[in-house]
Amino acid sequence: MKIPFLRLDRQYKETKSEIDEAIRRVVKRQFFLMGEELEKFEDELARYMGAKYAIGVNSGTDALIFALQALGVGKGDEVITPSHSFIATTLAIVEVGATPVFVDINPETYHIDVSKIEAKITKRTKVIIPVHLYGAVSQIDAIMKIAKKHNLSVIEDAAQTHGSTFKGKKAGTFGDIGIYSFYPGKNLGAYGDAGALVTNNEVIANKLKKLRNYGQSQKYFHDEHGRNSRLDEIQAAVLRVKLKHLDAWNEKRNQIATRYKKELGHLKSQTILPDSISCYHLYVVEFSDRAEMQKKLASKGIQTLIHYPVPIHLQKCYVGMGFKAGDFPLTEQAADRIVSLPLYSELTDAEQDYIIKHLRSLTQ
Ligand SMILES: *Cc1c(COP(=O)(O)O)cnc(C)c1O
Repeated sequence: MKIPFLRLDRQYKETKSEIDEAIRRVVKRQFFLMGEELEKFEDELARYMGAKYAIGVNSGTDALIFALQALGVGKGDEVITPSHSFIATTLAIVEVGATPVFVDINPETYHIDVSKIEAKITKRTKVIIPVHLYGAVSQIDAIMKIAKKHNLSVIEDAAQTHGSTFKGKKAGTFGDIGIYSFYPGKNLGAYGDAGALVTNNEVIANKLKKLRNYGQSQKYFHDEHGRNSRLDEIQAAVLRVKLKHLDAWNEKRNQIATRYKKELGHLKSQTILPDSISCYHLYVVEFSDRAEMQKKLASKGIQTLIHYPVPIHLQKCYVGMGFKAGDFPLTEQAADRIVSLPLYSELTDAEQDYIIKHLRSLTQ
């Protein structure tokens, strides 16, 4: 059996008639940017997430940059975030001229260790960016409490949590701004790059709408130093189709994850907080002999990936920041051991049986 890490081809097969119709509709209309598909997608996304405003942009990375700009974060400011994440969060902080201040993770959730945040707050701290990594929601109630106490803003990196909830409220809607990525492999994925922000704040929403569109309030009148970062009509049309399926797909992912947890209970996996539902973007387990395990699984046709192998503070591009190995030991330990198993709504029972069978025989 051959089980790739992701099977977007199967998702396309399931939705082909709707997707093809959506793309054809845009091509027929010959209107490609800032049109009715984007407008409708923004309305539908805002409604789905339970936020007042949704603003589509070109990528999750751009969404993070704009979120920081909209909150006035720049040179001299500090932003608290975990080092165990996809690098985009930190790229955005550095891009606006601010300084990332890392906090180690809680090894059970793989998320920022809330008990270690306050020690990192200084006069320069402006924002906390928790990352809801792997689909689970971070301890957002505690983070909001700390932010409130110290008068800080919160940007939620919900790039991996489309539809995850805490106490029935969607990840991304607790902080001042939430950001999503629609990179093709995400639970809600476009057919190219795309991203979005959500907020309940009208002033912030209006600023974001300008920032993504050359900073203009109307054509050729530029209020802000903005950029060209629109979510184009074809992507918006594709995302509108997929958003309708998202809950069903997430439900399927939950069933698969529940089965992994039951059958592979002896392997360490992410703790999901009480009152919270994960969208299970990834199913991550740990092995002390990871390279060997990945090789053995690959020899059985099972593809696994690592999210992420190098903590951000140890990436080559940030050598100049003066971090060293040992600075965030729990982050580094996770990065050395984690492996993501195939998990997607199109994974068949037979395929999951096969993965479980081999993992059990290799680990028991
Ligand atoms: C995917 C991702 C991003 C970046 O999104 P892009 O759309 O690829 O720019 C940011 N943060 C996290 C946690 C992600 O997983």
